[in-house]
Amino acid sequence: MTKRKAFPIRFDPRGDKPSGRSGRTVLVAGGAGFIGSNLIRRLLDQGDRVICVDNLSTGRFENIGTLISHPRFCWVQHDVIVPFTVSGPVDRIYNLACPASPPKYQADPLHTFKTSVLGALNLLDLAEEKGARILQSSTSEVYGDPDCSPQPESYRGNVNTVGPRSCYDEGKRAAETLFYETHRTKRVDIRIARIFNTYGPRMDPEDGRVVSNFIVQAISGEPLTVYGDGLQTRSFCYVSDMVDALQMLMEAPEGQHSIFAPVNLGNPGEFTMLELARMVLELTGARGPLVHMPLPKDDPLQRRPDITRAHDLLGWEPKVALREGLVPTIAYFRQELQAQQRLAAG
Ligand code: NAD
Ligand code: UDP
Repeated sequence: MTKRKAFPIRFDPRGDKPSGRSGRTVLVAGGAGFIGSNLIRRLLDQGDRVICVDNLSTGRFENIGTLISHPRFCWVQHDVIVPFTVSGPVDRIYNLACPASPPKYQADPLHTFKTSVLGALNLLDLAEEKGARILQSSTSEVYGDPDCSPQPESYRGNVNTVGPRSCYDEGKRAAETLFYETHRTKRVDIRIARIFNTYGPRMDPEDGRVVSNFIVQAISGEPLTVYGDGLQTRSFCYVSDMVDALQMLMEAPEGQHSIFAPVNLGNPGEFTMLELARMVLELTGARGPLVHMPLPKDDPLQRRPDITRAHDLLGWEPKVALREGLVPTIAYFRQELQAQQRLAAG
């Protein structure tokens, strides 16, 4: 098979020498998004060079705007479904490129699926070419609407192949297969993180996920939109805990074979959406009310990670409880909304 022509990306670190602990070159695909932009700040603080590749479909330039003048940061607007290469070495690749909010990933389901599958293929090709270690951001959605709780990695899931969430769920499942087979057949050093619901500063206020919706609604004095009866559960992980976990998984030594198999990352605290709504009302001082809206099709009724593997392999467990993590998240959304109001007022 002839190799597809790759779009060349020149990494221009402006002559800067890497400093600090590792001085690695790290490529973050999807780096302008919520988790990616938090991760990039951590990597730059640690002395790494960072290449951010993002098509800005759900990510925001504001998330990386203040980093543009950083001497060890480089950013390229590019869609990962198009093959690309990078001039110079790359030591680590985080593949976070994919819309994560249901309304966003359902807006263009074919592109979401292509992003998961072709994006994974292109980034795995790059990892092979550069001899880089690569981490895939998979998801608890690979479990679909689970019929066991909590969900261990050995649970094989309950996913609809043709429902409104399939473009994301099945795309992520296929990507896990691509990662694992690329490791098995080509010895590429891979990591697969099954991320459970994560929240915190740098989420897009218009993202459509439950934490951003509830907080934005509460501080705007609007009713909180609870889908269904609100008794469905989710487990929410604060973003600094998730960034810790992603880095620990990425940097865990190759020694144990099981490091190549998927690892659940999330906070096992489990809350109904009604409990979350009440907590947001209490912490914002808003009065509500709550309005019930139809539960979207195939919306999972429960979700809670079994993080035994993450604990045993990495020594990781989350530190920030939901109530604690909501405080800085609410402060962030207040600032975002005030900035938007100032902009609108000219
Ligand atoms: P996000 O939407 O804020 O970030 C995703 C980023 O990827 C955005 O900057 C977007 O512009 C970019 N992107 C999307 N398609 C792309 C493409 N084709 N080419 C290049 N860039 C593209 O979402 P997030 O919450 O930061 O999630 C990051 C990753 O983590 C995603 O892969 C998501 O599936 C996974 N994940 C997140 C959660 C969560 O709760 N936040 C849970 C499970 C998995
Ligand atoms: N949800 C809700 N109100 C909203 C947005 C979402 O009640 O305004 C519910 C949604 O139906 C789901 C849960 O909150 O049961 C988590 O939704 P989210 O989109 O944040 O993530 P995911 O469904 O992918 O876990």
